[in-house]
Amino acid sequence: MTAEGIVGEYLDLRREADADVLAMQMGDFYEFFGEDAEFVGEELDLKVSERSSGGESYAMAGVPVDDLTPYLTALVERGYRVAVADQHEIEGGHERRIDRVVTPGTLVDPTGDDAQYLATVVRGDDGLGLAFLDITTGRFHVTATEGEDSESRALTELYRFAPTEILPGPDLRGDDDVLDRIRERLDATLTVHATDDFAPGRANHRLRDQFGDAADAIGLDGEAATQAAGAALAYVDETGTGVLASVTRLRTYTADDHVTLDATTQRNLELTEPMTERGVSLFDTLDHTETSAGGRLLKEWLGRPIRRRGELEARQQAIGALAADAMGRDRLRESLAGAYDLERLASRAVSGSLDAPAMLRVRDTLALLPDLVDAVESSPRLAGSAVADVLDSLDRAAARSLHDDLAEAITDDPPSTLTEGGLIRPEYDEELAALVERHETALDWLDSLAARERKEHGLAHVSVGRNKTDGYYIQVGKSSADDVPDHYEPVKTLKNSQRFTTPELRETERDVVQLEEQRGELEYELFRELREQVAAAAPLCQGVGETLAELDVYAALATHAAGNDWARPELTDEDVLAVEAGRHPVVEQSVEFVPNDLHFDRDRRFLLVTGPNMSGKSTYMRQAALVTLLAQIGSFVPADAATVGLVDGVFTRVGALDELAQGRSTFMVEMQELSNILHSASDDSLVILDEVGRGTATYDGISIAWAAMEYLSSAQPNSPSPKVLFATHYHELTRLADHIAGVENVHVAADGEGDDVTFLRTVEPGATDRSYGIHVASLAGVPGPVVDRAREVLDRLREDKAIDVRGRAADGTSETTQVTFDLSSGQFEAGDEDGEAPAQALDPDAEAVLDALREVDVTETSPVELLGQVQEWQSRLEE
Ligand code: ADP
Ligand code: MG
Repeated sequence: MTAEGIVGEYLDLRREADADVLAMQMGDFYEFFGEDAEFVGEELDLKVSERSSGGESYAMAGVPVDDLTPYLTALVERGYRVAVADQHEIEGGHERRIDRVVTPGTLVDPTGDDAQYLATVVRGDDGLGLAFLDITTGRFHVTATEGEDSESRALTELYRFAPTEILPGPDLRGDDDVLDRIRERLDATLTVHATDDFAPGRANHRLRDQFGDAADAIGLDGEAATQAAGAALAYVDETGTGVLASVTRLRTYTADDHVTLDATTQRNLELTEPMTERGVSLFDTLDHTETSAGGRLLKEWLGRPIRRRGELEARQQAIGALAADAMGRDRLRESLAGAYDLERLASRAVSGSLDAPAMLRVRDTLALLPDLVDAVESSPRLAGSAVADVLDSLDRAAARSLHDDLAEAITDDPPSTLTEGGLIRPEYDEELAALVERHETALDWLDSLAARERKEHGLAHVSVGRNKTDGYYIQVGKSSADDVPDHYEPVKTLKNSQRFTTPELRETERDVVQLEEQRGELEYELFRELREQVAAAAPLCQGVGETLAELDVYAALATHAAGNDWARPELTDEDVLAVEAGRHPVVEQSVEFVPNDLHFDRDRRFLLVTGPNMSGKSTYMRQAALVTLLAQIGSFVPADAATVGLVDGVFTRVGALDELAQGRSTFMVEMQELSNILHSASDDSLVILDEVGRGTATYDGISIAWAAMEYLSSAQPNSPSPKVLFATHYHELTRLADHIAGVENVHVAADGEGDDVTFLRTVEPGATDRSYGIHVASLAGVPGPVVDRAREVLDRLREDKAIDVRGRAADGTSETTQVTFDLSSGQFEAGDEDGEAPAQALDPDAEAVLDALREVDVTETSPVELLGQVQEWQSRLEE
């Protein structure tokens, strides 16, 4: 084919491909041309060359056929869709066509261990339908959100599953608000996919095709959910990954099954991702899992705490049994350490991408079951516990029989190539055994040939070898080359030796080549049968995989509980949260933690938390949220004892100032999220508001905080009364506790005066009465003179005395002005100590600075911030 032809063909296929890049097979290479070549050259660091075609020159890059997968994976994991056109032999030549499009949501064998969800979102009559499909494990979840806040809840679900690819339904494309929020919040590839696949009738058919009669029993919640589920299946089918058969289970759930955790809360609580680079997430802290599937499941649990008490208590029981039995637990974990990712292996079997070494991993993982059962049964604590129940739920006989088949069939050290033999044990198949015997006889004959020739013909330096061009040959040293018998036929002359063949050798060679071929083909055939057997047993493998993952998570949580003196919380439907000597699960790992109590009940629902900066307010409040969430994944909790009333949601909002500092938020976002909490929280929720209102001017901030507090407490009878922890730096609010039933003050205790202040970090009743900002500044290393001066200013302010403001005049001489700040009126007066106000008209700049100065709440602003502001004012006055 001419160059024009190749590039032309590529460009034609490229136009037809619904993808970012096209890889087209040309013999032993996959090639990229033109812009695609430049793109992959850049992304993958491939060498780009030039190819001229039809008088034009095109960029060109290629990778060997066998190396495509890692390159493809790298592109797809960066969010691109890659079309692959394979070359197919047809009569009289070959043709190329696009067989598959690999996309971020449909990669069969991703490099990481995290779940890889493809999500579809469909807008229905009164809400949104959502489907989440992980083809690497066959997990498939479908739900619908309804009502006024259905969009927020849909976003919550999307955030929970963190899909790698999202397909919006036809109603959601273009300028949709939901779509904008998805773009803003999620790091997923958005794919616009065939509208037809979202049509209700078609989606329904898809589900029926996939699940047969079971589809009726699934009982999807409304049309939008059906559309979402059907479209997800259709999409996977159309991308051509061939993995659809691994999707054997569909799980529907409703928001009522889970604890609502909006995106901000998941992030704030650092459940699975830390907020800062050096931070540690809760997942990092708890992840003592031995397997990647276990880690995945733990992550999933942390993101989706549940409300079903029975299920939680079963988990507690399993964790309790394992926590109490260190030996049994160690044995279990040692066993689990040998497990591979069976759910993923099953998907690869279905897609046909499982090679022989991977098949052994299936075998070896199934082989662990008897050992696990033994570990459990031989421990009095574990036998009969919920751990045993988990194992009992498996079809162990089926697992055993699959294991035995694989063990009988696959050799111990098979190659990863499938067509060259060495995969299957000869005794597994009679025909194979016969072939192997003949093959080995021929090889033996060849092995002993040199010795025979040496002896028979008295030749020195004889050897037998094989290479690609000459096939088998007898090699004779130069000195004996003239003495070879007549039936030797010369093949090649080398510098020091000569190669010959004989009719007999040629015949054996033909046999060997033929036997090799037959053996390779037969073994491949047998291997494919086995792989299909594994594919057909995908549900079994998925079940075993899930069970191992579950045991792994139990053992991990038990390990952590036992090693950190955690307690089993009592779960109740009553309206309480009581924690004795509670700790923050992550912070306690790195500091000597001062334990704290916490008590909420029906009549004590709103705790106003005050205390100096850095005293531990935020930590205390997060701790309450984390104890609740841990309890609702079934885990033990960091406390001496705890009673946790199950909540329907946990909401947190941290004042914009903290977030602003990290470039994460604006006051607008702070208020949006506050509004979301005020809308969504119910009497059964836990709400944490940390310095809300701080991102704006003092008087605005305090007013907003005040009103929000009234709304969430009993002050306003017709609004929800969740359990609330409310940290504030507005001391004025602490007075409200006296007036609203259910609101109590607590504060983080500090001790001492001046430089000797130490934070006790015990939370005590009542409001705090001091600010320790200056102390913190000094702890932070602010220079001594600055700290001293700040103290002086503070004292003067407290005594309502005039303060010298040091400035510099235009001529460079120093100048001192005295001001008095009236704390009670907030008024600010310039004057000297005798009270004589200098008659002086201020210019607009100075006016503005004074205005700004009036706004500052000195007792509550950190010295560092103050300094920054003062510097700004100075430069403004100098202008
Ligand atoms: P605040 O919100 O009051 O400014 P933080 O909760 O951010 O204070 O805590 C400040 C620091 O004190 C953090 O580094 C935290 O790790 C530590 N800390 C908080 N509570 C405790 C505690 N109970 N025991 C020990 N260290 C704590
Ligand atoms: Mg704080």
